[in-house]
Amino acid sequence: MSRPIRATVSLSALRHNLGVARRHAPHARTMAVIKANGYGHGMLRVAKALETADGFAVLNLAEAIALREAGFRQDILLLEGFFSADEVSLLIQHGLSTVIHAQWQIDALTQTPVSSPIQVWIKINTGMNRLGFQPEDFPTALQSLQQMGAQVTLMTHFSRADEKNCITEPLALFNTITLELPLPRSLSNSAAILNYPAAHGDWVRPGIMLYGASPMSHQSASALGLKPAMTFFSELIAIRDISAGTEVGYGGSFRAPCAMHIGTVACGYADGYPRHAPTGTPVLIDGQRSRIIGRVSMDMLTVDLSAIPDTRIGSPVTLWGKDLPVDEVATAAGTISYELLCAVAARVPMSEIE
Ligand SMILES: *Cc1c(COP(=O)(O)O)cnc(C)c1O
Repeated sequence: MSRPIRATVSLSALRHNLGVARRHAPHARTMAVIKANGYGHGMLRVAKALETADGFAVLNLAEAIALREAGFRQDILLLEGFFSADEVSLLIQHGLSTVIHAQWQIDALTQTPVSSPIQVWIKINTGMNRLGFQPEDFPTALQSLQQMGAQVTLMTHFSRADEKNCITEPLALFNTITLELPLPRSLSNSAAILNYPAAHGDWVRPGIMLYGASPMSHQSASALGLKPAMTFFSELIAIRDISAGTEVGYGGSFRAPCAMHIGTVACGYADGYPRHAPTGTPVLIDGQRSRIIGRVSMDMLTVDLSAIPDTRIGSPVTLWGKDLPVDEVATAAGTISYELLCAVAARVPMSEIE
């Protein structure tokens, strides 16, 4: 018997969630965002499940090439563009699209001989202040790219699309700068797809919603019609009764207020479970809701079984996923679902289910 931890990825949930994104933005093409190893679900696995997407967005040249080599023919976009000039020739060789956010990238393209027109997504900074051309620098950048025969898509990324009435200014700025340019536009991540139809443009870029988590703190994934793609499982590997006053785990940070029945689960922070999850973070044991108690350790965590007397060693434990939204666990741990999903460790065996 090996350690009982594992994760499953539901291919039908991924496809369902792509359908939800498409129904929200029926006139846009869909660039499925599969960076960070498909938000922890396995990049190639996700790409195969979502093979009807119009394009895939990743971070690194190596990921983009892996997609090409796996046979994906659709648009593949490097979300932050290339990181050094020596990547340009490979990018062209594999027919990849690249974000262009800085002048040095334009210089690098100018210096590389190009036989066919390269696809570039020019990123305009409308208030996120991470990457992108300032509005006043955009016309020159666009002109240089068009002079070298590039096919240009206009792009921006919102800092507050998950809040209500918070993209008015950046959207107006983007629209003013790009007014009358007969070029395709892309503005929307999951939150903007769900909240702001006026920002859908020609290409939408759904990420987190494809994996069945909510981009908004005030709306659950199920209320948005999304299905969790990943379920993270383990089992109870020990059970004990403790008396009032007994401490549990490192630092004795949990002290039993009364006699309790508790269990130990084969899952710790080295598996990607958040060490900061406090006592009270929800967990499902044999399908019943309970809570973790005490500090999460590297390979184990402890749970309260007092209200679930029928458990035994080997009882199934769901850390998140089906029947326990990852968003709830993330909120309890003071983080967001994105971080939990991306953090699932390579040592956790992952398999796909229909
Ligand atoms: C990650 C990313 C997305 C997807 O964001 P979600 O919130 O996961 O939908 C879209 N666009 C850009 C530029 C990104 O970096």
